[in-house]
Amino acid sequence: MTVEVLVEKFTHPLLPEAVNRYRLNINGATVFIDAGLEAPQGGVVVVTHYHWDHTLGLARARGLRVCMSPETLKSIDPGRAMDSVKTVLEAVGYGDLAEHARPYTSQYGEIKEALAWHDIYTLDECPALGVEAIPCPGHSGDHHCILAGGHVFLGDNYVPYTLSTTLTSPMDYMGSMHRVLSLDWDKAYPGHGDPGGKADLAGWLTKVLERKMARIAALARLAGEGVDMRTALHRMYPGVEGATLFLAARNLVGYARALEELGVVRVDRGRSPWVIGPP
Ligand SMILES: [Zn+2]
Repeated sequence: MTVEVLVEKFTHPLLPEAVNRYRLNINGATVFIDAGLEAPQGGVVVVTHYHWDHTLGLARARGLRVCMSPETLKSIDPGRAMDSVKTVLEAVGYGDLAEHARPYTSQYGEIKEALAWHDIYTLDECPALGVEAIPCPGHSGDHHCILAGGHVFLGDNYVPYTLSTTLTSPMDYMGSMHRVLSLDWDKAYPGHGDPGGKADLAGWLTKVLERKMARIAALARLAGEGVDMRTALHRMYPGVEGATLFLAARNLVGYARALEELGVVRVDRGRSPWVIGPP
């Protein structure tokens, strides 16, 4: 099997870095990994995860064959997107700012509507031969990594230009990436940024996990005395503001969940901001 890979990059004012869509030629057939921001021309589209920058192209096209997991299909929903923003903002006591998220979450209305224009397949019944999807949760719960030939497409589980990738579940992420590293492939393709080899991915991942573990440890120390999540946010990310503060808050909620799963803290979600303390 020969797989040729072409990258198509799209920029958008809401994105700090161009988003990649990969156009694969597998023995003469066209397969896109993710939809990017514009209409993919023909072929089969395989979606790594629901985030709008990887799916908006579906709303710019008609009659595509699209493969995605049932969880991705469910997640393309403006109400659900808004709810997950609200949860993060309530966790850190900024629930009243949820309305500001509308420009980011409203894209899902358009994408959801467009799903009716296409033939949707699950990843198991995907008609793209030569492509294998493996569950890869971490950056988002629905995330899949796609293997084709000696290539692996990692979506937003690999963003080599930064170490501050957002994770909804650091523990799931660690498991996913160790599984990916154990598989047989030569080149890893990120959702944003440039591809790399196995050593590049392993080196980047070590730095990311070191950083995440340091954050988790810092939150565990604060939780030792009991702290509300708003105070924890500002102590751990001093001087951070705006959209970056929201991304920090999203990570913080993931760290709290990780500590909770380890049984070392208790999270009181009954009020806003949440309070994290000893179990
Ligand atoms: Zn993403």
